[in-house]
Amino acid sequence: MTTNPAPPAAPALVPCYAQYPFTLVAGQGARVRDQQGREYWDFYGGHAVALLGHSHPAVAEAVARQARTLAFYSNVAPLEVRQRAAEALVAFAGGPLTSVFFCNSGAEANENALKLAIAQSRRRRIAALTGGFHGRTLLALSASDGAKLRGPYEPLLADVVRLRPNAIDDVRRIDESVAAVIVEPLLSMAGVIELSGEFLRALRQRCDEVGARLIYDEVQTGMGRLGRPLAAGRFDVWPDMVTLAKGIANGIPAGAVLMTPEISEHIQLGDLGSTFGGGPVACAAILAVLETIRERDLIANARRLGEQMREKLCIGPVQQVRGCGCLIGLQTRAEARSVQQKLLERGFLTGTSADPHVLRLMPPINLPTEAIDALAEALEALA
Ligand code: PLP
Repeated sequence: MTTNPAPPAAPALVPCYAQYPFTLVAGQGARVRDQQGREYWDFYGGHAVALLGHSHPAVAEAVARQARTLAFYSNVAPLEVRQRAAEALVAFAGGPLTSVFFCNSGAEANENALKLAIAQSRRRRIAALTGGFHGRTLLALSASDGAKLRGPYEPLLADVVRLRPNAIDDVRRIDESVAAVIVEPLLSMAGVIELSGEFLRALRQRCDEVGARLIYDEVQTGMGRLGRPLAAGRFDVWPDMVTLAKGIANGIPAGAVLMTPEISEHIQLGDLGSTFGGGPVACAAILAVLETIRERDLIANARRLGEQMREKLCIGPVQQVRGCGCLIGLQTRAEARSVQQKLLERGFLTGTSADPHVLRLMPPINLPTEAIDALAEALEALA
């Protein structure tokens, strides 16, 4: 009798993420703690999700209360908490963005915004930026740049006109075949690259000329992070749709597509859907986030923190600081990855980017200023 060899042990969790060399067990505000009891300042912001810091009491309380009252019902039932979250989000956004569709993530928000533009225009092409990142579902991935991400899936779902950030000449390449132009108003993963007012105005004008929709992916830049409610409206440019996720519910999975009446008026029953989108726990968390931002004046705080980071962090291995509010890029002389590693050893979590010389900071918008001083000191010590 022959016996089969034992199959190799497979890890219970698919090992598809590069991870920190420690296990986190707790987080309070801008601090997280590992199994060994070591604490870190979280300038990575839990992947730009911990907008109000970790375990925020108002969010925890709202989530617990809602979970005890009605943890879930889908969109087949009207819910007061969902209605209030939609109204609060629309009021927060301002401008012409009057309606919201709730979903669960950034990719899902972008997927739905792009689908709406394609369905309503009956066009198949989209335009997006070199270095842009919009998520990993197939249509969001079509808009994203990067050979490594896209390679195995080519040809993707939509043919893409690729524009260079801030290249006014490229805007003319958007023509009547394009359904939507999707941009991060400040490209995060690409290395914290701000789009100029001139470029955004040119995009808006060109979209109007050819009948394409302009979508701002504000999965990172929204919810007050840049020191204003949204990047939309900056430079007097309003897109047709804004997508949100990450910090919108401070850690409870949630996403949203905000849109103008010109988009929402064409949506028919059954055109969009998501089982968990607009779930009551997520909506209670969204309401708590919006209320905390208002009560604590955290938009102005994000702006102030950004100014302080720009002023204090051009030190040690940092050559230049870019970005604004709580989305900051530190351009480093040495490889950003080695600076990240040294900062980790000194108790600071930071993020890298697609630019090997840019370290990204996406801390909570209520970060204490002592954290910035501590980071400045640590950077100085690396020089
Ligand atoms: N858009 C931007 C700008 C992002 O940074 C991300 C995620 O990092 C996404 C979309 C995708 O969001 P999610 O991972 O929630 O699908």
